Amino acid sequence: MSEFRTCPCCGYRKGFHIFFKPVKDAHHMAFICPQCGQSFDFGLVIKGLRSKSVRGPIFE
Ligand SMILES: [Zn+2]
Repeated sequence: MSEFRTCPCCGYRKGFHIFFKPVKDAHHMAFICPQCGQSFDFGLVIKGLRSKSVRGPIFE
């Protein structure tokens, strides 16, 4: 896979937001373009996620 940073739908060039989609006993980690909202799923599977997140530091 080549670099995935520019949205092929709208041309936004500064990367993507991520989201987690439950699939059976795991989650897919997928991407959303912050400009046009198009989602992309490469099948990246994450196992062992907590059912709820733990808040970390706030970055400025
Ligand atoms: Zn886009």
